Amino acid sequence: RPVVVWFRDDLRLADNPALAEAARTQQPLVCVFCHDEASPGLRPLGGAARWWLHGSLAALDQALRKLGGQLVMLRGPAREIIEQLASACNAGAVYWNRRYGAAERSIDESVKTALRAKGIEAASFNGHLLHEPWTVRSRTGQPFRVFSAFWRTASALGSPPRPLAAPHRLSFHALDVAQLPAVGLTDLQLEPSNPDWAGGLREAWIRGEPGARPALDRFLETALTGYAERRDRPDRAATSRLSAYLRFGNISVRQVWHAASAAAAAQAPAAQRGLEKFLAELGWREFSYHLLFHNPELACRNLQPRFDGMPWRHDPHALAAWQRGQTGYPLVDAGMRELWATGYMHNRVRMIAASFLVKHLLIDWREGEAWFWDTLIDADPANNAASWQWVAGSGADAAPFFRIFNPVLQGERFDPDGAYVKQWLPELASLPASRIHRPWEAGEEALAKRYPPRLVLHDAARERALAAFRSVG
Ligand code: FAD
Repeated sequence: RPVVVWFRDDLRLADNPALAEAARTQQPLVCVFCHDEASPGLRPLGGAARWWLHGSLAALDQALRKLGGQLVMLRGPAREIIEQLASACNAGAVYWNRRYGAAERSIDESVKTALRAKGIEAASFNGHLLHEPWTVRSRTGQPFRVFSAFWRTASALGSPPRPLAAPHRLSFHALDVAQLPAVGLTDLQLEPSNPDWAGGLREAWIRGEPGARPALDRFLETALTGYAERRDRPDRAATSRLSAYLRFGNISVRQVWHAASAAAAAQAPAAQRGLEKFLAELGWREFSYHLLFHNPELACRNLQPRFDGMPWRHDPHALAAWQRGQTGYPLVDAGMRELWATGYMHNRVRMIAASFLVKHLLIDWREGEAWFWDTLIDADPANNAASWQWVAGSGADAAPFFRIFNPVLQGERFDPDGAYVKQWLPELASLPASRIHRPWEAGEEALAKRYPPRLVLHDAARERALAAFRSVG
């Protein structure tokens, strides 16, 4: 009897435990993606992530076609659709890799129960994380709330399993989709058409599994050694840019882990420091998933209840200026425009732009989280929410609220020549490096007319933020 492989956040052939297990049975396969916007509790993807999903699905379908199969695309509530599909093809088993959000877990649980009630095997695997959240516990059995202790314990569990090779040969079941809500990829309407805002994204990225490995190789060859020193520099190509590939499972974290470890061993000893730092960043990703698993409302509720009383300001004008990269602070604006143009923003700049919204503008972090959710190609249910709570100070092991980034000093430190700012703010291109992060000091003439004055002054905004924070202390 056929085995159904249900693809979700694991849109790849290599190191895909559910697919590998299905292949091992030597039964004909049905590979399926279910576009589910109907099940209760699921958060709809934002625009940029939908665009990424489209490319990932197209690439996976193409890869399966090369092996003689295809990706069957269905639309509707997963619980009903997967059961219907399993019946339609008389499946003996359905396999998938796990997800960690509360709604997703509850859907998967109900699919499992429904299939088993019909005598169909249902099995899930870990395709997304180095370690399952429930396996990393403190000595008293509690989930961790501090990253360093979490990562020490997770690291002590040892290296993750070696990645599984992509299958070279598969056999497929010829599925009659007539009674199923099957759709073509274009019917899913994941790509924008009118207006087509995705031109900049298309220029910047190769989506899906075919783009992932070259991005990893480039990083390992050119940036792993030196990662620890240079990763905070947005003006350098110093990080992997793998986040969207990891988000949609175009590459697995285990592949990245093992490839980086092997590359560092070959480049030793210079790469060792870079490797440790890089693995620790994968550790932050794990920690975010750990937090999401134990705090299902991570994206909407403060982990520290003290923040529930924060006197956030309702200021649509300031929010819009931040979203459009018009705050008058070059590093913040460059980041927000990079985000809009490419669906990506460098990590250091994300921290500064996010901090500016929450502290300088005193706008609720959930407004920022929602904007990033809509505009990031790597918009991730765990990383985005956990990072926003980290920046706001409301999260687990968060940056203290009273530590307020000065966007000018941060710019001068991490973009000293202004190359990053000039790339995204052409109206400032003629300013000398000494003025690029403080254009208001450049004088009327030098300050290009199209660049806005500062929305708030740093010192006053800082005082206002601290007073707000004291009021909930
Ligand atoms: P690298 O430096 O090459 O790191 C390798 C991988 O480690 C990344 O691809 C990512 O999977 C993981 N990683 C790196 N830094 C972090 C981090 N601080 N927290 C968790 N994982 C990390 N990352 C997302 O993947 N999706 C998001 O939606 C997201 N939203 C963010 C929002 C804010 C406000 C902030 C401050 C950070 C956010 N991050 C998010 C984390 C981080 O900025 C990105 O993962 C990173 O910039 C991606 O670039 P890279 O792949 O070159 O990272």
